[in-house]
Amino acid sequence: MPLYEYFCETCEQEFTLLQSASANKEETVCDLCGSGNVRYKFSSFASKVVGGTPKTSKPVTMDDYPNKDVFKLPIPRLRSEL
Ligand SMILES: [Zn+2]
Repeated sequence: MPLYEYFCETCEQEFTLLQSASANKEETVCDLCGSGNVRYKFSSFASKVVGGTPKTSKPVTMDDYPNKDVFKLPIPRLRSEL
């Protein structure tokens, strides 16, 4: 279920609501003061970790490199030499 983020113009607070995608956002009222003067910001899916670092990729392994000969090349300059 999507998590919708709103900003209330009346109490100047942000709040989030779990709503179905078909919910009427025009009729959304502030979660804090009940005012209908709210601004829809954006939505994200509640299943995501809000504020966390999503793990977008698995660890890279040798099999991920199409050309394994690259590992036979001389080791480039160490970062400390820069
Ligand atoms: Zn409010």
